[in-house]
Amino acid sequence: MIRIGCHLSPSKGLLRMGQDALSIRANTFQFFLRNPRGSKAKALDQEDAAALMALLRERDMLPIVAHAPYTLNPCAADPRVQEFAAMAMGDDLVRMGSFPGNLYNFHPGSHVGQGSEAGIEKTAALLNTLLKPDTAATVLIETMAGQGSEIGGTFEEMGEILRRVELQEKVGVCLDTCHVFAAGYDIVYDLNGVLEQFDRHIGLDRLKALHVNDSLFPLESHKDRHAPIGKGCIGLDALLALVNHPALTQLPMILETPQEDLSGYAREIGLLLGEAVDNL
Ligand code: FE
Ligand code: FE
Ligand code: ZN
Repeated sequence: MIRIGCHLSPSKGLLRMGQDALSIRANTFQFFLRNPRGSKAKALDQEDAAALMALLRERDMLPIVAHAPYTLNPCAADPRVQEFAAMAMGDDLVRMGSFPGNLYNFHPGSHVGQGSEAGIEKTAALLNTLLKPDTAATVLIETMAGQGSEIGGTFEEMGEILRRVELQEKVGVCLDTCHVFAAGYDIVYDLNGVLEQFDRHIGLDRLKALHVNDSLFPLESHKDRHAPIGKGCIGLDALLALVNHPALTQLPMILETPQEDLSGYAREIGLLLGEAVDNL
């Protein structure tokens, strides 16, 4: 069985997230460790975190994925913006000590006119500042759609960032299906070819998680807009082939699709488990 879940909110508590995940048959999930807009974070409730970890161990729901705030730009030209990203991610990684052995995902950011080489260098430098031999998480760089001046929109750039990281055992990649498709990688008609390219430039052994999203916009649109599973330009058949691909099927998979409530995710989990669902 695949390991699949969705993005959940910790607003009702940490243990509650694990219970919500169980209620929709999820066996992993993703969450923010702080307000996604990246402002000041309140202290983590350690008892709640320990209760969640106990539940996750008991019900075989590990690993889980924490996501860095969307608004951070680790490769910004403005040093204050860059410092803020370093501060927020550094604090998040301390928080990951309450969820040891899990995954922490971030967006490499936008170079905003400095050129991709500068963006690659700043992102790698940030990782080299933050990562320590005792960092409690594996930090994942997310593949991006290449919107605007985003870096990480090509496997070559992703590989280049990774190669510059000193603590290799602490970094990996999260592949977002919407992002790679929008970036121009045809996972609909040539999944094997895309995985070959991933392996050549990054290494399939670096792939630690998937974000499973359909895409509102077509191949190579460079637009990062997620669609519900089966309702975008990737489609259910291609996503089913992807989650069942032998190179991918053992990875934790996170839905980040637009949904009104948990029942929407429950339905998508059913779809990706291969259960026929009416009225798609
Ligand atoms: Fe993301
Ligand atoms: Fe994503
Ligand atoms: Zn996205």
